[in-house]
Amino acid sequence: MHIMLRQNRGCVAALTMAALLFVWPLDLLAADAVTPSEPSAAQAPEMAPAVGVAPPVTAAPVAAAATTTPANDLHETEGESDADSSNNDDTALPDQAELETPVAGDTGATELVYTGDLDDAELLRRFTSELETLGSVSVGVAEEGRVINGVQLQAGASVQVAVPEYGYATAETIAAVERVAEKLRAELVEPSPLRVSHIGKKSGGYIRGHFSHQSGRDVDFGFFYQAGVDPGHLTGRRESLMDVAKNWAFLKAVVTESDPQVILVDYRIQSLLKAYALSQGEDKTWVESLFAGPTAIVRHARRHRDHFHVRFYAPRAQELGRRVQPILAKRPDENLAIYRVKKGDTLGHIAARYGSSVSLIQKASGLRGTLLSIGRTLVVPLRGPCTRCPLPPPVVVPPRHLPPPVVAPATAATPSESTGVTMANAEQVAVEAQPDAAEAGSTRR
Ligand SMILES: [Zn+2]
Repeated sequence: MHIMLRQNRGCVAALTMAALLFVWPLDLLAADAVTPSEPSAAQAPEMAPAVGVAPPVTAAPVAAAATTTPANDLHETEGESDADSSNNDDTALPDQAELETPVAGDTGATELVYTGDLDDAELLRRFTSELETLGSVSVGVAEEGRVINGVQLQAGASVQVAVPEYGYATAETIAAVERVAEKLRAELVEPSPLRVSHIGKKSGGYIRGHFSHQSGRDVDFGFFYQAGVDPGHLTGRRESLMDVAKNWAFLKAVVTESDPQVILVDYRIQSLLKAYALSQGEDKTWVESLFAGPTAIVRHARRHRDHFHVRFYAPRAQELGRRVQPILAKRPDENLAIYRVKKGDTLGHIAARYGSSVSLIQKASGLRGTLLSIGRTLVVPLRGPCTRCPLPPPVVVPPRHLPPPVVAPATAATPSESTGVTMANAEQVAVEAQPDAAEAGSTRR
């Protein structure tokens, strides 16, 4: 996958079309398939930016304009997950921003930071005979991973869970969501529940329509809309129907109450939130640093125009994931590798490579046939120690990126003095600040 993404745009385009042609028939066979629309050039996914290039807030891939027709603009389907609602997501390559591997830097940490209370012998004992006492374990990375001891988010006054069976994550992630939800409920004048669409399956792994959400740390949150707006049936531009104040309160709560590794949301939404935050007198340097530069937590990704995708750090679960990797073979039921399908793969080849079998992979991965779709991941039961399982780098959670302490009221600028932006014209400012998508795209090659 990484090799593929590092190739030039032409090659990636060719592979993308190959992927479209290769996987399309599978949908006709899949039990949950809906009749696919004819794959067309307009629906072909855009190219991911080059590896290592931080997605700039003000730049959009050039194909963005082509994939959003005016009709879509007026009547967008509310998917509220990473899936492209106009297409079968299995046929799309992931946005580079959604992948964890290229951005997960090796922190160089060599000592245990979050699981020092468990020595190796105790870890082995619990893993083999008291697995449920180990707590959540995040194995692998967001786009190639799984979860041991997943915890389910419970709906309540402050949070709604759209799909309970996709409501699982590590305990740390669930706790973070609950903190954010409670913060909003305490802070908003007219609180409305946080709407959680997809998190992950109980054991993590592949979810149809997502490239990540596999290791128990990714959560999709629906936007807040103005009173009376039905998110399922929008009849206008999304940006004009949003409750910008609540969405900004959400973003701020995530940054200040939890430890997000990245927050993915479309640049058009980012502009709106940024303009609103400045209009409210938030510290300009802090706000801008959330969206751009080396400390940017908020990043643009395709298919993230109707929801926030937050990837939280789950440091204990992640460190446990690194530590259990070498001892997975001690438990046959947990001795599983995660494999992302590449062009040309067959189940037989994958089984041979891992010393597994076609039927074991089919059963563990929920596959009915032998057709594979590029980009999805398979669960590969192993018969011995995994010599091919990638070990994610050690995790050290960076300090929270908090706003500076509030200055004394006498010296604090009023919103209108500081920026001239009011709530009413925040959107207009955001639109003006955002160059045309095609124009921006032309500057990023
Ligand atoms: Zn997501």
